[in-house]
Amino acid sequence: MLKKLFFNWKMNPTSPNEASSLFAEFVSLAQSQPQISLVVLPPYVYLSELNQQLQTSGVTNLKLGAQDLARYSAGAYTGQISGQMLKNMGCQYVLIGHSETREAYQLSHEQINQKLLQSLESGLVPILCVGHQSDKTITEINYPELSEQVTTALQNLPTEFKTEFYLAYEPVWAIGTGKTATNPIIEEVSQFLKQELAKLGLDKQVGILYGGSVDDVSIQELVKLQQVDGFLIGGASLKPEKFKTISQVVANQV
Ligand code: PEP
Repeated sequence: MLKKLFFNWKMNPTSPNEASSLFAEFVSLAQSQPQISLVVLPPYVYLSELNQQLQTSGVTNLKLGAQDLARYSAGAYTGQISGQMLKNMGCQYVLIGHSETREAYQLSHEQINQKLLQSLESGLVPILCVGHQSDKTITEINYPELSEQVTTALQNLPTEFKTEFYLAYEPVWAIGTGKTATNPIIEEVSQFLKQELAKLGLDKQVGILYGGSVDDVSIQELVKLQQVDGFLIGGASLKPEKFKTISQVVANQV
């Protein structure tokens, strides 16, 4: 199956016009490669306008997602954005527990779990990010930490949920550094994550993603990964020539 591509714009760009121009590049990419599935995760403030742009384009293989959501459904939570608001804005996906968000808000495992439950309740597809918070390099994989991140985030899930669901393995040292984990390491960790998911009965339902300096160069090797269902892409999401090459490489994979 073709790998799915998720594009995290982080806190970029700075104006609605730039956001619209950048999104137009994704629309044309989606039109030229209808076999590829693309999800763009812009800042909240651009969602409404980009959703209009998406609806007007008529493309069906490009979707919108958000970079975070509140851990509450509604109420007096100044500055927070609920899952239902995102859903009503045209979002179908939401990132949960990105390492930059975990760090900025000092999120606990319990809070990540609350966000995950909110995403499911609102009908948003979660992309749960996990990675070694403590490691600075790939010398040693912190399996207990990965296990804790997965198990605590996925507790108390509704017994019946049929939505898509993704677990993104993002070693913290690889994000925005130009360094990627090697394919054998990613395969090993993906296998481990699938075993953890199997203990929860979720291994068939949850797709595994890799994120960490995926770009037009590193994709040439990363595309060969067997255990991985897609990629979460940060910096290269802002550079049309880079994300178009990534998409082309993935499209040529079959
Ligand atoms: C990310 O934002 O999740 C990410 C992996 O960023 P980058 O591709 O820039 O490393």
